[in-house]
Amino acid sequence: MNFKTIIAMLDSDALDQVENPSDETDFKRILPFILLHFAALSALLVSFSWACVALLALSYFIRMFAITGFYHRYFSHKTFKTTRPVQFFFAFLACASVQRGPLWWASHHRQHHRFSDKEEDAHSPVQRSFWYSHMGWFLTEKHFPTNKKYVRDWMKFKELVFLNRFDWFAPVVYAFSFIVFGKLSSVYFPELGLNAGNSFVWGFIISTLVLYHGTFTINSLAHKYGSRPYETGDQSRNNWFLAMITLGEGWHNNHHHFPNTIHQGFRKRELDITYYILYLMKCLGLVSDFKPLPKNLK
Ligand SMILES: [Zn+2]
Ligand SMILES: [Zn+2]
Repeated sequence: MNFKTIIAMLDSDALDQVENPSDETDFKRILPFILLHFAALSALLVSFSWACVALLALSYFIRMFAITGFYHRYFSHKTFKTTRPVQFFFAFLACASVQRGPLWWASHHRQHHRFSDKEEDAHSPVQRSFWYSHMGWFLTEKHFPTNKKYVRDWMKFKELVFLNRFDWFAPVVYAFSFIVFGKLSSVYFPELGLNAGNSFVWGFIISTLVLYHGTFTINSLAHKYGSRPYETGDQSRNNWFLAMITLGEGWHNNHHHFPNTIHQGFRKRELDITYYILYLMKCLGLVSDFKPLPKNLK
């Protein structure tokens, strides 16, 4: 591993300099991604309690919401408005999912909508294999940089540019918070059976892995399996199971048909938990100006 690779791991903007980037898996750069998968085995080395599972679920839920509600419906599609502090808080929380920064995420997603299932789509399972669309695409040198031409509207927010450039910062702070929480819990609530080790392993490592593959299904499975109430010109699908695990993002054919609304579940039975949470936040005055479904939508 050379010096340039290490710098690129710490400073995402260093990747902008690469000429003719490769479309092959970049094993050096993805080492943290691989190590995180092996680190799940450390669950065998730490003590177990049911509070660990609760911590995993909570950590999954809040970060999944930050991704679906903010990385997706806010930063990518601007389907509601919020204040700068709330915007930063949820960008930080979503960034703690170890799925890169807000500008990187939004830029690739906007590109996905523009060229959905066409050659320029970075993660189409129609153009490439299932595994490439699931996780192969973001492990390539070609897709490491943030394509800034798609996110010029966000570049004026220096705190977002910082988060995006040093995208390891939020995950490190988030992971460390589990060590502190576990330690405090072992002192003040020993009956929970939590400590620094098992809190870190279940709340951060295992939760992040489940969150990874839950999120990635929208790029892989939601363009392959499910119903297509709308003829959208791509292969997006509505899939109730994916909607459950992604808090509403599985109504993906709806979303491709009309991406300019805060809703993804368009019908009564299409459970859209992200929307319900955003609605609650609206009642609390944290978000506003929801873009509704068009009245004449069939
Ligand atoms: Zn979208
Ligand atoms: Zn899609």
